[in-house]
Amino acid sequence: MEQKQRINIAIDGPAGAGKSTLAKLIAERLNILHLDTGAMYRAMALKALRSGIEPGDASRVLPLLPKTEITVKNIGGIQHTYLDGEDVSNLIRTPEASKGASDIGVIPEVRMKLAESQRKFAEEYDVIMDGREIGSFVLPDAPYKFYVTASADERARRRLLELQQKGIGLDKTLESMREEILARDHTDSTRAFAPLVQVQDAILIDTTELSVEEAVEAVLRHIKR
Ligand code: C5P
Repeated sequence: MEQKQRINIAIDGPAGAGKSTLAKLIAERLNILHLDTGAMYRAMALKALRSGIEPGDASRVLPLLPKTEITVKNIGGIQHTYLDGEDVSNLIRTPEASKGASDIGVIPEVRMKLAESQRKFAEEYDVIMDGREIGSFVLPDAPYKFYVTASADERARRRLLELQQKGIGLDKTLESMREEILARDHTDSTRAFAPLVQVQDAILIDTTELSVEEAVEAVLRHIKR
């Protein structure tokens, strides 16, 4: 039997560019699923932190991998992320988990494990997946690829607002947020294995001056169903 051609959309870009917001809305508009891959890295970081391990310490993280199960479930259009069966969707939104995700994502074995389940997800479902290396590494054959970005100032402003709305990181200033974002950009784009890059066949969407709805329209214009 011929396999149905899946709709796979890859959205990559730096932290705070609006990828997840955009991907979630596009998923709703196209009636497909959204997979936020950052949540999986955050869950992996949480596992390390809970085990008293620095997420960047590869020699101690590696033994954890076979003992870790990270799964996602879409419930009413919202992604729930599970670490060893526990719903950690809210626990992974702290600044520690953000930093930990960035550090743990440098470890190739972690990336390979998570990429494998992300690929399975894309085989099983029509999906819009957001991350850093979806178009270059996870789904290099995806028919639709976007690179979503915004200025560092704007990204810092959005991240701060997001944290404040959740009542976390209330001690943060715009300047400290900007520094954090730039540090994460650096880690993401300089890691040796599957770094953040804008692949040649990705369409660039700069959301600095765009409203959410304008950004959604900009992406949808390129998706002919
Ligand atoms: O997208 P989000 O900000 O939740 O991702 C948290 C961190 O996880 C990123 O800064 C990045 O370092 C890492 N990450 C990654 N690859 C992905 C998604 C996230 O390395 N596909």
